[in-house]
Amino acid sequence: MSSIAQNLQHVQQQIAAAAERAGRPAGAVQLLAVSKTFGPQAVLEAVRAGQRAFGENYLQEALEKIAALPLLAPDVPLQWHFIGPIQSNKTRPIAEHFDWVHSVDRLKIAQRLSEQRPAALGALNVCLQVNISGEDSKSGLDPAELPAVAAQVAQLPGLKLRGLMAIPAPSEDVTQQRAAFAAVRSLLAQLQAQGLALDTLSMGMSADLDAAVAEGASIVRIGSAIFGARHYA
Ligand SMILES: *Cc1c(COP(=O)(O)O)cnc(C)c1O
Repeated sequence: MSSIAQNLQHVQQQIAAAAERAGRPAGAVQLLAVSKTFGPQAVLEAVRAGQRAFGENYLQEALEKIAALPLLAPDVPLQWHFIGPIQSNKTRPIAEHFDWVHSVDRLKIAQRLSEQRPAALGALNVCLQVNISGEDSKSGLDPAELPAVAAQVAQLPGLKLRGLMAIPAPSEDVTQQRAAFAAVRSLLAQLQAQGLALDTLSMGMSADLDAAVAEGASIVRIGSAIFGARHYA
């Protein structure tokens, strides 16, 4: 078995164990394999091990993989999720080539994605990214802005608003990790109480996966625990 296949199996076991401890059904947490900086061959190895959903941060690199994989793995339908910062002049290729966008952090980006989404592809699934730790340097909506922005995004015809995404400030303290994820969960509940039909909490990475699953993550975004350490050119 390749190391990527082994890592995937290990991460799946870790998710299942965390879900069980939390009394959540095994299938409640989807694994998004974050393949940024790794080439098409690494993605192919993950596909051969059964992985179907991939997360990417850098548009150009992602588009190359999205074009390459159907040739390497014909007839295997894959799901591509954009999870990186979005520049407003780059929305069109995102709207045209991805199934999900987790990192919508302002209304203008949502409006452009909605307008540019080809009708034939159906609505683009989106999450609003929330700046849960209040870090100045981090992208994401201020929690106070969320109710109004979510209400407007939910009306856009080319999008299906699914929920929230967050990247809390890194902490090695599980209690702190859980507190940040619990805050995201409660923001989602607040939006649901406002009448929005949302089903997604995109939270948890390699270092804080257990805490995220304990607090209700429905998608965990895992990179290095599957593909190894990233090397930036
Ligand atoms: C890189 C990245 C991940 C994966 O991080 P790991 O620590 O390698 O698991 C998850 N989410 C986002 C938004 C990322 O940019």
